Amino acid sequence: MATVGFIGVGNMGGPMAINLVNAGHQVKVYDLSPDLVDNVVKVGAVAAASPQEVVKDIDVLVSMLPSGKIVEDLYIHKERLLASISASTLVIDCSTIAPENAINLALAAKEKGIVTLDAPVSGGVGGAVAGTLTFIVGGEAQAFEQARPLLMNMGKNVFHAGDHGAGQTAKICNNMLLAVHMIGTAEALQLGVDNGLDPKVLSDIMLQSSGRNWSLELYNPFPGVMDSVPASNDYNGGFQVDLMNKDLGLALQAALKSQSATPMGTLAKSLYSQHGRQGWGKKDFSSIQTWFKKVLNK
Ligand code: NAD
Repeated sequence: MATVGFIGVGNMGGPMAINLVNAGHQVKVYDLSPDLVDNVVKVGAVAAASPQEVVKDIDVLVSMLPSGKIVEDLYIHKERLLASISASTLVIDCSTIAPENAINLALAAKEKGIVTLDAPVSGGVGGAVAGTLTFIVGGEAQAFEQARPLLMNMGKNVFHAGDHGAGQTAKICNNMLLAVHMIGTAEALQLGVDNGLDPKVLSDIMLQSSGRNWSLELYNPFPGVMDSVPASNDYNGGFQVDLMNKDLGLALQAALKSQSATPMGTLAKSLYSQHGRQGWGKKDFSSIQTWFKKVLNK
């Protein structure tokens, strides 16, 4: 069993850290929010008062943070955490960030003899809680093999996508597709409801038909169709519209660089940007369902 430092125990990082504790690892946690740290301490982790304290005497450091700027500020520019990390510690950043951020981190770490992996995840908060996440890893093959057993304590699929940054590239392709099928699912459900169908009956039909997809199967956006999803909890928890907007921005940046055609991803970014600007930024991304709802004349 390893001694693991964990930075960022929010919607995703919290349950991931809890799964590491439950697997028998010694886990030290740090987050800007002490309440979130307490949730993990309650199951047996130890609280650290600073990022510098969390990285002391650990085998592996995992971080799960909102954005590339925050990751670079923490490790390289503001906190300069790399200076406090031992060369024997493997750093696994699970945040979804630009491939360029992951490469910057890998290069800055390498100068200090530290090995990093980018290991963004798919599977949502449900997958983080159940320990069924998919890890999409970029970095050296040897480090990937070293990380695999630990990642399997938090997930059930671990892929090596390629060198540093490749994990992030694969992840943003996936999330662009996720946005597109979530919007399509919401649009189809509203069309059915507007034409007299019960959303649950329509969902059951489409699940056994060619419209089947992950959003419909595990994350139905129509309130009341599925228990334990954000749509049935006023779109709270889950994956924030702001974070989906970040990921779509990363996808469009990559598309610009490679001159790829991404008409669906571009439309999805426009819809999610508008949705966020209308006050839905902190709500779950399945709340795009409300965008299709008819508003009665005032
Ligand atoms: P979140 O906002 O719930 O959690 C992020 C945590 O990081 C917060 O608790 C915050 O306090 C902490 N934090 C921010 N800056 C920090 C700093 N400098 N030092 C220490 N802690 C800091 O977000 P989340 O939903 O858990 O997402 C985290 C990452 O996972 C994002 O990159 C997101 O794109 C990705 N992701 C999220 C989901 C999902 O369904 N929520 C799914 C896959 C991937």
